[in-house]
Amino acid sequence: MSDIIQLLPDAVANQIAAGEVIQRPASVVKELVENALDAGATEITIHIKDAGKTLVQITDNGCGMSPTDARMAFERHATSKISSANDLFCIRTMGFRGEALASVAAIADVELRTKRVEDEVGTLIHIIGSEVKTQEPAACNSGTNFSIKNLFFNVPARRKFLKANSTELKNIIWEIQRIALPNPDIKITLFHNNSQLYQLPVTNNRKRIVDVFGKNLNHSLISVNEKTSVINIQGFIGQPKYARKTMGEQFFFVNGRYMRHPYFHKAVMMAYEQLLPPDTFPSYFLFLETDPASIDINVHPTKTEIKFENDREIWQIIHATVRQSLGKHNVVPSIDFDQSGNIDIPVPQKSTENIVFPDIPINPEYNPFNEQKPTSSGGSYSKPFPSEKRNLEHWEDLYEGAQLKLKPEEQNQSDFSQNSDLYSQSAVQFTGKKYFS
Ligand code: ADP
Ligand code: MG
Repeated sequence: MSDIIQLLPDAVANQIAAGEVIQRPASVVKELVENALDAGATEITIHIKDAGKTLVQITDNGCGMSPTDARMAFERHATSKISSANDLFCIRTMGFRGEALASVAAIADVELRTKRVEDEVGTLIHIIGSEVKTQEPAACNSGTNFSIKNLFFNVPARRKFLKANSTELKNIIWEIQRIALPNPDIKITLFHNNSQLYQLPVTNNRKRIVDVFGKNLNHSLISVNEKTSVINIQGFIGQPKYARKTMGEQFFFVNGRYMRHPYFHKAVMMAYEQLLPPDTFPSYFLFLETDPASIDINVHPTKTEIKFENDREIWQIIHATVRQSLGKHNVVPSIDFDQSGNIDIPVPQKSTENIVFPDIPINPEYNPFNEQKPTSSGGSYSKPFPSEKRNLEHWEDLYEGAQLKLKPEEQNQSDFSQNSDLYSQSAVQFTGKKYFS
């Protein structure tokens, strides 16, 4: 039999890769808006038609691309953001894999218009299903404009599995929210079928949250701010009484990137313990900042699952910080926190470091139900509550130290050895109080 293995053509490889990166119109929106952020845009406009099934158009005023870069951008593993594997651990950009544009171009009709500020003329590229149809100079504004039409036109199975427009649009809105919240310094506008859904002006963090989720949230927000050597946390949490029956306003971001983190979510929920009405979830918008070297973003195709080197310490910091903020706002009545300063949250050492084991001699043969004394030499161990009479033979020795401190008249009263009643009473007291209580 002849050899049967062959290299897949690029277009097919890109289509396969697209299966992971681009699952629905919302994925296209996410990838393209993230590219606009990485390009340094201060203004991003998104036009959607039919929940993205017909059109996703994203315009930014970022750095734009040269004609050569514009063509290169659609190649697989082509990126301007990293150049070596080491760079993976100092990532400050949203993208780095160089996969998104190649994937989108493999499964849609893509038109790109782009121009750098320093160039007189821009570039127009038209690609359908990985095939370049046009590349030519074009008059356009500085920045970049992507139009994605007929998503999944050549992957009917994928197209068939798309949900109703209302669901797909909801997914798009979620993606926009996740990008808008950590970027209040960027103006973001969203249109669906020509009607404006969001007009988010440049503002601060709190106002951006309110602009995204509505004015009602404003009076519920409690600010959170904590700086530690491991992580900085700032943002807002909702007052428990405004907690909702449905989830949807729980957000973690790390270094400006949205992430799902069920383990840290638990830290927040536990901080709210006994404060929430049953089956409700508090809102939270927590922005974590940490050294990029201490996290791994490259563990999931959509980069929403992130591994933290110090996750247990961070869990405790999040828990304590949220609890502290609730306390400061008198939501936790029993804790009287200083309104002005931050508390010092101790970060535990790594579990195996600096543990000193107590030096207590033990008898491995000791059996509390066995009345017999152990036979072998079991260290310095002795029965804790001696019941045999002979163990009381030197009972006075127990008081030796205590008697030294007594005045002479007290010594007389405490001379139990003169009175057998007192002796037995005190022996009971001794064992009863000192050891059994
Ligand atoms: P990645 O973002 O992982 O680098 P992409 O496939 O999303 O991969 O993009 C490839 C490259 O195209 C980017 O590295 C960037 O240089 C360029 N690019 C994409 N979108 C834009 C944009 N809106 N403005 C400027 N350059 C862009
Ligand atoms: Mg990208």
